[in-house]
Amino acid sequence: MTPPTTPRVSYIWSQELQDVSDDLPSNIGRSSMVHGLIKALELLDEIIEDKAHIDNHPRAQVVAPDEDLGTGDCLLKYHDKEYIDALSEQRPDSSPDYDPTAPQEPASSSSRPAKRARLDGSSAKEIQELDGFNLTHDNPIFTTLPKYVSLVAASTLTACRLLLRDEADFVLCWDGGRHHAKKSEAGGFCYVNDLVLGLLLLSKEGRIKMDYNSEGQEHGTNGNKRMKSRPPRILYLDLDLHYSDGVSSAFHSTKVYPDPMPKQKPPKPPSVMTFSIHHLAPGFYPPATPWSELTNPWLPTPFSLAVPLRAYTSSKTYKTIWEGCVEPIVKSWDPDFIIVQLGSDGLPGDRVGQYGNWSVEGEGGMKWCIQQVKKWGKKTIITGGGGYNHPNTARAWASVTAAVLDRPMNSETPIPHHDHFEEYAHSFTMEVLEGHMDDENDPEYIQGACEDFEYIATRVQDIVESSLR
Ligand SMILES: [Zn+2]
Repeated sequence: MTPPTTPRVSYIWSQELQDVSDDLPSNIGRSSMVHGLIKALELLDEIIEDKAHIDNHPRAQVVAPDEDLGTGDCLLKYHDKEYIDALSEQRPDSSPDYDPTAPQEPASSSSRPAKRARLDGSSAKEIQELDGFNLTHDNPIFTTLPKYVSLVAASTLTACRLLLRDEADFVLCWDGGRHHAKKSEAGGFCYVNDLVLGLLLLSKEGRIKMDYNSEGQEHGTNGNKRMKSRPPRILYLDLDLHYSDGVSSAFHSTKVYPDPMPKQKPPKPPSVMTFSIHHLAPGFYPPATPWSELTNPWLPTPFSLAVPLRAYTSSKTYKTIWEGCVEPIVKSWDPDFIIVQLGSDGLPGDRVGQYGNWSVEGEGGMKWCIQQVKKWGKKTIITGGGGYNHPNTARAWASVTAAVLDRPMNSETPIPHHDHFEEYAHSFTMEVLEGHMDDENDPEYIQGACEDFEYIATRVQDIVESSLR
C-alpha cells in the first residue's frame, strides 16, 4: 500500500472534553495546555481565531467526540456493570493525599485548584466498595468522573469510527490512551479503557474486503474473481514509559500457534496484536508479570509482545528497537489499523516517569518514530497517555501533531502568545531539554531482543499467510 501523500488528519476535541479531562486528578489542567498550544500554533482547522491570517498550511480537522459512543451500553462492551455503575454514580470528590501534579512545579496560571472534598460523609461500606474497584488512592473519585469516562471513551471510539468510515487516515486523540484501566478496576490514574473499547470496535466493524483469484490468493487479478472479507489485523503499539497492562491483558490468549503452522486447518490469527515498549524494574508500576518481560519467541501465542527496558532509555536505543523489533513485526503482521499510545512520560524531567531519557527531536526521538509510522501508510490513531510534566507533554504532542501534518517545527520554534504562555518559561520555545543520564540498557540485551523479534516476525508471517490460504 502506498502512503497517501497528504493524509487526512482529524483531531478529537470539544470544550467539554477538555474541561473534564482537565479535572483528571493526576493531570489537573493538562488538557487545556495541550490543546491550547496546538491551537495557538494554528495546527487545527475551525478554531483559528484570526481568520484573516490563514495560510495554506495543512491543518487537522477538529471532530467532537460523539456522545452516543460514550453511553453506559458502550462502556459495557468491555467493562463490568458493577464497575461502570460505580464510576457513573454522582459522588463528592475524594481527596488524594498524593497529587503528582501539585508540588515541584512553579505555580502556573493554568493550575486550577483541584476541586476537593473528602469522603468524610461516606459510609465505611461505600469506601470498601470503592476500594474494591481501586477508586481510591491514585484513582480517586472526582465530581466530573461520570462525564469524564463517558467522553474519553467516546473520543477514542469516535476516532475509530472515522477510520472505519474512511473519513480520515490519521486521528489524533490526546485525551485518550488510558492503558492501565481493567475490566472492573481503575489503575494508574486510568478509569476507563478507551483503547480496549476502540480495539474491540475496530475488530468488530473493520472487516476487510478482499479480492480472491481462482487460486484463492488475496488481491488476485485473473479470472474467477470473487469478493470475500476477513477479520482485520490490528496493531496496538504502546510507547508510554509504563507497561500497557490493561490493554495487553484484555487481549491475552492461550491459543496455540504451532511453529511451523500446519497446512491443514491452521488456527486463525487474532484481530489484535499488542506490543508494549516500556520501563521495567522492581517496584515500578505496574508490577511485572511474565507478559511484561521480553517476549519469549517460542511462546504458543506470539501476539502479546513486550520489550522491557532499563532506566534512561535513549533515543539511540529506541531507534535500534524500532528498526530491529517494531519494523519486522509491522512488516509481517501487515496491520489494517494501528493505535499508537504515545504517553510522554518517557521524556526527561517527568516526575512520575522519572526514568525517561527519550527525546522529541532527532533520530529515534518521538517525532522520528511517528514519522516512521506515517511511512507505513496505515489507518492510524495516536492517543495520549501518561505525561506529568505538562509543558513538555504539550510541546511533545504539539510537535507530533505538526509532524503528522508535515508542518515544519523544531525545538527553536517559539511558543506563540496564548493563555498558557507563561508556563513555557524560561525558553518560551518548543524545546524539550534532552536528558543527560547514561542509558542503562546493555547493547547485547537490545541486540538479543532484536534477534528474538526477527524470529517472532517469521512466525507471525507464517500465521498471517496460513490465514490467507
Ligand atoms: Zn505512563
